[in-house]
Amino acid sequence: MPAITVENLTKRYGDTVALDDVSFELDEGEFVVLLGPSGAGKSTLLRLLNGLTTPTEGGVYIGDDEVTGKRSDIGMVFQMHYLVETMSAYRNALTGALSRADFLDSVLTRYGREDKVRALEALDTVGLLDEARQRAGSMSGGQQQRVGIARALVQEPSLLLADEPVASLDPKAAEEVMGYMKSAAAERELTTIASLHQVNLAREFGERYIGLRDGAVVFDGGRDDLTMDV
Ligand code: ADP
Ligand code: ADP
Repeated sequence: MPAITVENLTKRYGDTVALDDVSFELDEGEFVVLLGPSGAGKSTLLRLLNGLTTPTEGGVYIGDDEVTGKRSDIGMVFQMHYLVETMSAYRNALTGALSRADFLDSVLTRYGREDKVRALEALDTVGLLDEARQRAGSMSGGQQQRVGIARALVQEPSLLLADEPVASLDPKAAEEVMGYMKSAAAERELTTIASLHQVNLAREFGERYIGLRDGAVVFDGGRDDLTMDV
């Protein structure tokens, strides 16, 4: 059974077709790079996958469960990391547990020991264990983005989505962050979809590529089949 099934997803905004009958399946642990020019529908697809918006037609399945339009256990890494700058890297990572555990429980009884261990493990995974106590606001852009990845890992999601995760970083930091994201996903066999617009990074880190144009899938294949104009 595929880990993720996307079935005939269509999203219209009035006359605009943001996504046009998109279907694909992902196996457990696949690392997919989503490509396409601005306006191709990448954000719309990621927003549909994590239930931030509902499709006009079609469905999303995790294993056997239909999750269309529902917030489920999907981790999200954003271009803007949305960290709390005054909190430590550790505290920020720990907040990932809020979306996993019972929310009131976490707020009222504070985080459990398991959550704390997970937060430290996740910081270790992104190479920031030594920086755990640093204020997020004092860290470099690349480090902050790695804290954002750690926070998503603490959630223990069944799917990791990253919407232009390195768009605001310089090339060196971007490469580093992608490297950590890829090794974190591999270590945890976490199915991942990351949208990228830098062709060099896409080539370096992708395993499978899904290319969108005008809302439709125009490419779905491996690195060897990848042409420059996707
Ligand atoms: P990408 O992420 O590839 O740049 P988007 O998914 O943001 O593309 O957008 C795909 C198309 O859908 C664009 O034409 C965009 O203007 C349109 N669109 C996206 N979100 C909305 C919205 N909330 N309302 C109206 N149109 C939208
Ligand atoms: P829906 O809940 O209908 O699926 P969204 O949650 O995707 O809509 O819409 C987010 C907001 O972005 C809406 O208020 C929409 O009006 C606004 N928006 C309008 N045009 C665009 C656009 N071209 N790209 C992105 N967002 C847009």
